Amino acid sequence: MPKLQVVDPVIFRVAIPVPVYRLFDYLAPADLDLKAIKPGVRLEVPFGKSKKIAYLLEITQQSDIDVTKLKPIIRVLDQQSLLSSKDLRLLQWASDYYQHPLGEVISTAFPTALRQGKPAELKVEKRYCLTELGKAIDSTDLKRTPKQKNLIDKFRVREQPSLSETELAEWNSHWRPSLNLLITKQLLMPCEVNTPYVALKTVLRNQPLICNPQQKTAIDSVCGHLGSFKAFLLEGITGSGKTEVYLQIIQAVLEQGLQVLVLVPEITLTPQLEERFKQRFAVNIAISHSKLTDKQRQIAWLQMQTGQCSIMLGTRSALFTPLKRPGLIILDEEHDGSFKQQEGFRFSARDVALVRAKSLAIPVVLGSATPSLESLHNAQRQRYELLHLPERAGNSIEPELQLLDIRNKGIQEGLSDALIAEMHKTLVKNEQVLLFLNRRGFAPTLICHSCGWVARCLRCDANLVIHYDEARLRCHHCAQEQVLLKQCPDCKGGQLTPLGLGTERVERVLADLFADKVTVRLDRDTTQRKGTLEKYLQQINAGAVDIILGTQMLAKGHHFPNVTLVAILDVDSGLFSIDFHAAEKMAQMIVQVAGRAGRADKLGKVIMQTRHPEHPLLTKLITEGYNSFAQTVLVERKDAALPPYSYQALLRVQSLEPEAPKLFFQALSALMQNINSGHTLILGPVVAPMAKRAGQYRYQLLFQNTRRNELQGFLKTLMPEITKLKQAKKVRWSLDVDPVDLY
Ligand code: ADP
Ligand code: ZN
Ligand code: ZN
Repeated sequence: MPKLQVVDPVIFRVAIPVPVYRLFDYLAPADLDLKAIKPGVRLEVPFGKSKKIAYLLEITQQSDIDVTKLKPIIRVLDQQSLLSSKDLRLLQWASDYYQHPLGEVISTAFPTALRQGKPAELKVEKRYCLTELGKAIDSTDLKRTPKQKNLIDKFRVREQPSLSETELAEWNSHWRPSLNLLITKQLLMPCEVNTPYVALKTVLRNQPLICNPQQKTAIDSVCGHLGSFKAFLLEGITGSGKTEVYLQIIQAVLEQGLQVLVLVPEITLTPQLEERFKQRFAVNIAISHSKLTDKQRQIAWLQMQTGQCSIMLGTRSALFTPLKRPGLIILDEEHDGSFKQQEGFRFSARDVALVRAKSLAIPVVLGSATPSLESLHNAQRQRYELLHLPERAGNSIEPELQLLDIRNKGIQEGLSDALIAEMHKTLVKNEQVLLFLNRRGFAPTLICHSCGWVARCLRCDANLVIHYDEARLRCHHCAQEQVLLKQCPDCKGGQLTPLGLGTERVERVLADLFADKVTVRLDRDTTQRKGTLEKYLQQINAGAVDIILGTQMLAKGHHFPNVTLVAILDVDSGLFSIDFHAAEKMAQMIVQVAGRAGRADKLGKVIMQTRHPEHPLLTKLITEGYNSFAQTVLVERKDAALPPYSYQALLRVQSLEPEAPKLFFQALSALMQNINSGHTLILGPVVAPMAKRAGQYRYQLLFQNTRRNELQGFLKTLMPEITKLKQAKKVRWSLDVDPVDLY
């Protein structure tokens, strides 16, 4: 009888995107060539009654589970890992730091299509190039067929060997007939597909601008550190030429044949930026944001992963895109709250970008006109090198900021008489006015004039907002809405009155006061349909609009060169919040909105209506500027031991049952007594600032420690224990490390 050979089982330890803090073991198929399989590859595995995509982390021979109970995997999806070992380690770090299950963290690094197990192939497009004859002829020979001449010139000015169908379609939608004719004439030919990356003789399509000395210093500082990690904070007022600085640093990186990752808060709002990149560089640029299809995002991701594209311009989720030849990371508008993910894996793209740059040994540049207090603090501690652009580039002039005291003054629907007079003065000169009010709808409250009844959301601790345009009452916190009531449902007789101010209401008064002027309102309600925002922006730039009215949408990215008067209708709303972040956010908003004015060579004016003209933070901001303001707030934060002088994590708990959170906190409290070494402050639990939302009763508990490591250690022990609490099953809970708002 032949001797039975006992072979140790080979076990795959994998992460699966499910909300549990553990890994899973599976058996490797016996016939697999293990040498070819590396951590990071995607696998398909049986999971309960279904199948899931899993990520291989380790090949081992030991399991805590009885090996005979382990199931074999179904199949291996990738020949080789799509993520580098450095990026895999980064994800592991992020999972630890944000206390979020590793499987879910890894899966956020992939585009949806790959998460679903689709093959990681780049379907290669047809490409075309010049034949020898095409290179040799004089294109003026084609002058009687101008379309063909244009097309051949397009090929000849390019340093790149070929053009893809997409690139041709982007250039001119009627490219194909001319192309076919040129192929018949043997001047063009289809060429080798799957062209590998080729270093270009010149990466430039257009020449850079001539820099001012501050720009030059900034560019030289970063370029002096290519190839090693260093963090830079580029602080420059709007219009000071930050983008030009990015472009010239990027140029240096591209000339070394390396790739650049550029993150922006909201890409749909910055088509101008994309355009400037395309104007400047001859390299392939990948775009990634949530408005693209899954397929488009997968292509962009793979083009960076394989190195076919040299620049990725994307939003928060693009941070984890693998880079074949990493060279530089840039985060523009680094102060922007959208860099923090607010659900699920609550990571800060800014903070993780720093860790990623360090692990890849490349520089990272954070840019803003209004840097976050964290970043300014890091610059003070010399962890970041501060680069400063204090003046507007070119010949444009900085706007003048002015507080307008509206106490006891005549006011119509939020517009004071003094402001209306200023608006007239501006409009007479054929210049544009921008009005900022960060509240959409007609009015935030509907109240009964005789009994005081207020229209409340039944599911939230919030008032319903009046939307007159559609005759609806809407909750801005859940999906609840109803028709606009005509009569008080309580006293049946009372007259219902709108209270407070929203953009719709201002729009109506503008139509009365400035009947012969054109107003556009830009907020979420008016720009929902695809393309409407672009349409409005075009009209504004073409000078077809006199008054622009809008919400925070106006604070981001757009340049309105003909706007010479900006008014912030209600600065006070940011002054009295219970969240300590509010003052910082208010100041950033004011400066960002102010930066939209007078971009060309016309002097701009910024008026802020307030009932607190002596408020120390406001006056500081107006008289001494954002940086002084920020230093003052930093001192306050230091005195109160608030971030960035301490570290926080917020545990949010909610349930449809009012009692369930309380029972959960009782159990948690017992648990924490055993874990806390005593240095982590535990503040709460308290009722959340919005006590009820979408029918859920909400509570929160804040952890705070002046030492990051101690807080981390505490959370790391606590999290797995919470998942074991039976009271945790009755509530929905989540942990937010480094929360940016305490709601
Ligand atoms: P930011 O990104 O800081 O708002 P930009 O880079 O967009 O600033 O520059 C603002 C304007 O000034 C743009 O129109 C840009 O073309 C122009 N600009 C920037 N740098 C220079 C320069 N060195 N010389 C002339 N114009 C410049
Ligand atoms: Zn009433
Ligand atoms: Zn609601």
